Amino acid sequence: MNANANANPAPVEKPLPQPSALSKAYWEAAAQGRLVLQRCTACGKVRHYPRLICDACYSDAVEWVQSSGRAKVHSWTISHHAFHKGFASEVPYTIVTVDLEEGVRALGRWPTETPLKIGQPVQARFVTGNGRADLVFDPA
Ligand SMILES: [Zn+2]
Repeated sequence: MNANANANPAPVEKPLPQPSALSKAYWEAAAQGRLVLQRCTACGKVRHYPRLICDACYSDAVEWVQSSGRAKVHSWTISHHAFHKGFASEVPYTIVTVDLEEGVRALGRWPTETPLKIGQPVQARFVTGNGRADLVFDPA
């Protein structure tokens, strides 16, 4: 029998974001701890996640705007199974869906044990380091 059969396997690294031309500005801001959103310069509609064209007027004219990070809880889920081995040591963890005050929905981690309530005010922030920028929401 192999003496190392019961040894802990080497930890698996979490996957890193792979910015595309479309999402590059989002990830660059995220690395600086800033949440930015696309805004259509033709009609003014804000959108998130980054998309090529506006779903209201079909324009591809876009600018990036700073989000306040203020939001309210829409829903949440508690993940008991890691979708990637890099997250296995963190389960269970909570993913919260929020409505940002700019009128778009976003997903992030809920890093506390504080119980959630629908409509609860929250504040966005990024946890950065090791090439990562993870969006989290804290009670406001
Ligand atoms: Zn538009």
